[in-house]
Amino acid sequence: MKRQLILLSDMEGASGIFESNRGAVYHGSELWREVGRQCLTSDILAVCEAATECGIDEILLYDGHFAGDAEFNVILEQLPSNVRTFDTPNREFDWRRIRGQAESDPFGLITVGQHARSGEPWAYFPHTIQTPPIKAVLVNNMHIAEIGQMALSFCGTKYIANIGCNASHKEAKEISQNVACITVKNKKEGWEPSPLETYQIIKREVVEAIQTIDQKDVISISEPFDFSMELVEGYYFASPTVFPWKGNFNETVATWVSPSIEIGLELFNYVRNFIKKKS
Ligand SMILES: [Zn+2]
Repeated sequence: MKRQLILLSDMEGASGIFESNRGAVYHGSELWREVGRQCLTSDILAVCEAATECGIDEILLYDGHFAGDAEFNVILEQLPSNVRTFDTPNREFDWRRIRGQAESDPFGLITVGQHARSGEPWAYFPHTIQTPPIKAVLVNNMHIAEIGQMALSFCGTKYIANIGCNASHKEAKEISQNVACITVKNKKEGWEPSPLETYQIIKREVVEAIQTIDQKDVISISEPFDFSMELVEGYYFASPTVFPWKGNFNETVATWVSPSIEIGLELFNYVRNFIKKKS
């Protein structure tokens, strides 16, 4: 059987990107083009090298930063030939489609370039999907941002490792307690290594995580799925009088119930449409 690794990337948690060069995450900017893309690509290449060394046949990559724009953050030409990318229009978060393009039973999941959720202390660029206006998204009382959305779309798959800002691991561990946490920068300790330094760390620790996959858990969450979204100050829900899903709105919190994670995340996109800025 083909051993397929699912790799989900974001950018704010990539090596080499700090407050001092924050423009490197602004998709389309000069700094993004000259620095940011190379930083993220370095982290992804370290994972690919480790995975290939461990006998992974294929790596399926979803490059999720600034989804909605067709241009990739990762430098595609630098990727080895056993890497394919998920195909969604303009790289949009279409979790059902993304899940459908992967094997029914992938070898495991790794998240890379990950940042912490909105509100986490000592974090580089913390946010939850889009903050403002979103303060938190909860599913069954667990605050999920990018890591949670991506990982929960792969329920039943082993969560091998999370790579990123030290503060991002909290979310990853809430999803799967035994996930390997690989840090590439630590604001609290002022540790800001270069991508060259972290390349070896990522490679070594990913190899170790893959070799100890027996100790990793499959991602799971129990039904039913109660979602809620809270807004930061200055924003409100202009709630419609009729909506076709089971849920509720008040001024700053929307709730909805879903029979599956995929549908719940799709409803999240509908609910988002009712966010308005206070004048
Ligand atoms: Zn991002």
